[in-house]
Amino acid sequence: MSKRQGALRLVLGDQLSDGLSALAGLDPVHDLVLMTESVAEATAWKHHKQKLVLVWSAMRQFAARLEARGVRVRYVRLDDPANTGSIAGELRRALAEALVDRVIRTACGRWSLEAHLLSLANELQIEVRDDDRFLCSPTRFAAWTEGRKELRMEYFYREMRRRTGLLMDGDQPAGGQWNFDVENRKKLPAGARPPTRLRTPPNAVTAEVMALVGAGFEDHFGRVDSFDWPTNPEEAEAILDHFITDMLAGFGEAQDAMSWGRPFLWHSLISPALNIGLLDPLDICRRAEAAWRAGRAPLNAVEGFIRQIIGWREFMRGIYGLKMPEYALRNALDAEGRLPWFYWSGETDMACVADTVASARDHAYAHHIQRLMVTGNLAMLLGVHPDAVDDWYMVVFADAYEWVEMPNTRGMATFADGGIAGSKPYAASGAYIDRMSDYCKGCRYDVKDRLGDNACPFNALYWDFLDRHEQRLGGLGRMMMPLKTLSRMPEAERIAFRAKAAATRTAMGV
Ligand SMILES: Cc1cc2nc3c(=O)[nH]c(=O)nc-3n(C[C@H](O)[C@H](O)[C@H](O)COP(=O)(O)OP(=O)(O)OC[C@H]3O[C@@H](n4cnc5c(N)ncnc54)[C@H](O)[C@@H]3O)c2cc1C
Ligand code: SF4
Repeated sequence: MSKRQGALRLVLGDQLSDGLSALAGLDPVHDLVLMTESVAEATAWKHHKQKLVLVWSAMRQFAARLEARGVRVRYVRLDDPANTGSIAGELRRALAEALVDRVIRTACGRWSLEAHLLSLANELQIEVRDDDRFLCSPTRFAAWTEGRKELRMEYFYREMRRRTGLLMDGDQPAGGQWNFDVENRKKLPAGARPPTRLRTPPNAVTAEVMALVGAGFEDHFGRVDSFDWPTNPEEAEAILDHFITDMLAGFGEAQDAMSWGRPFLWHSLISPALNIGLLDPLDICRRAEAAWRAGRAPLNAVEGFIRQIIGWREFMRGIYGLKMPEYALRNALDAEGRLPWFYWSGETDMACVADTVASARDHAYAHHIQRLMVTGNLAMLLGVHPDAVDDWYMVVFADAYEWVEMPNTRGMATFADGGIAGSKPYAASGAYIDRMSDYCKGCRYDVKDRLGDNACPFNALYWDFLDRHEQRLGGLGRMMMPLKTLSRMPEAERIAFRAKAAATRTAMGV
């Protein structure tokens, strides 16, 4: 006799949206939602303690909200002795034990998990639905790439502006320009004081999970006691509202600035909540646009913010979907080095690196320019293997998911993809960091010195990087200027940079 009648609706830890496609048409009488705290997922990378707290606390609260609406939920806690530890294991167990005969799920973000779940199709009846929480589907992105020699975010972004109608006046961009980035590259003015951030003190569920993670995952990176992330839609809404009201107006100009001990500046801090589904990208952008139309924030700030979300975020996801799994093997600059230990310990005299690692350790956060131009730039100049770079970024940030992390590291930060996501390597010497921050004035190293004992390590590494990759980078238009300067450099100076860079790599254990 067949005992089965309903569907098992699988909800993963980054799929915590009320409108999730896997939940559409749910029958509360016969269907069952499966949510599982998976040790395999928690340790595939040894994620930051705060990321584990974020995901599990948010999952528990999401399950409770569903139950309050009368939905049946099979929630498997980490400490349940029957928990098999893997998503596939829990799917099999639920199908064997519950009155359900098939699985409905939303496609997952990580390529390897999706491939694994697809491989169960012979054994289990599974319906896979698109993840429509993104604004551009993989099919649509693939269609956009057709016939293009190069994939450039800027053109994709314009398409997204037209499609969403965001910041459009008819068929023209608001303010007569698509991109106001040139206005968004300012250093912090002396005496600038970013507004105080709204805190999200741990609620009761979060406090319980903090204790669990503190005790069971002690060897994972980072502090757990300073956890301060939203874990449900109300908390996420509060930080978004705070950003739009108090921060957005200042976001633009200071977008690329960095300051010792001030990791957040005017950044929105929404990515951890957004990436697990507590916020909706289009809603965020519409509210930012409304702030500009109401005269509460300037266009350069609002355009810059919206570009990050409908431009960069969607573009990165598109690249990942299009290029995986081959993308994960890319190492265009043949980087083979190890990641210096100070990326974990923070024990370095390089003030910019120490501050970025401290922010990652304490808050599971660093803003875009710290990720790109400090830790990313240094890893690229040192020649660290892209796998080790990916591993670090996946571990240390609360918002890390491979679909967005990898195109940012292999594409933007290290040029390991050879120019798919970006048009050039974002290589820079200490001068860039000095221009955009107050780090150098408190650093043991001298940012103006290139070869002396106290010379800023970025300087020799930068020239050595250009020297090593001169041939490879020669064809890139945007590298013409620095390569021209290199070509005029006397051979003796090049040799000195090579020697200094080699000594630096050795000292850093690369
Ligand atoms: C090497 C490297 C690795 C990164 N890894 C991740 C990651 O694992 N997860 C992640 O969400 N972001 C990642 N980013 C992008 C960016 O650094 C973070 O999204 C941002 O710092 C999050 O902080 P915020 O919410 O305060 O962002 P804001 O500066 O306030 O920006 C608003 C939003 O725009 C989006 N955004 C901004 N820049 C990017 C970008 N380059 N790619 C995709 N989305 C973007 C994010 O959703 C962000 O929340 C990475 C960037 C670099 C250079
Ligand atoms: S001097 Fe060099 S190492 Fe020190 S903070 Fe500036 S850029 Fe970083």
